Amino acid sequence: MSAQAHHEPTAAPTCWCCGKAFPEHELTRLGAHPEVGVCLGCAIYLKRRATVQRDEHHPTPASRLRGGIDTARNAVIRRGWHERGPLAALLRRIDRFLP
Ligand SMILES: [Zn+2]
Repeated sequence: MSAQAHHEPTAAPTCWCCGKAFPEHELTRLGAHPEVGVCLGCAIYLKRRATVQRDEHHPTPASRLRGGIDTARNAVIRRGWHERGPLAALLRRIDRFLP
């Protein structure tokens, strides 16, 4: 057994939300718990969930607009339109610019 065998790279770190493996530079670490990292997709998902919770507790005209957008987004996902060819690409592009 060579010395190299003792220093094999460890497995890629995983996202604590979705469980998928990512390179370290693609994970965002929590401040008080740096052992916890989430991927970009899950960070965006968590932000949206946090925004929904905030809007539920502090309703404003903007929060009602975001609620309407979320309702439309959920309807698209429920129907699977976000996974269908050219329409999917368009919907995902639009979603990048939505709150
Ligand atoms: Zn993730």
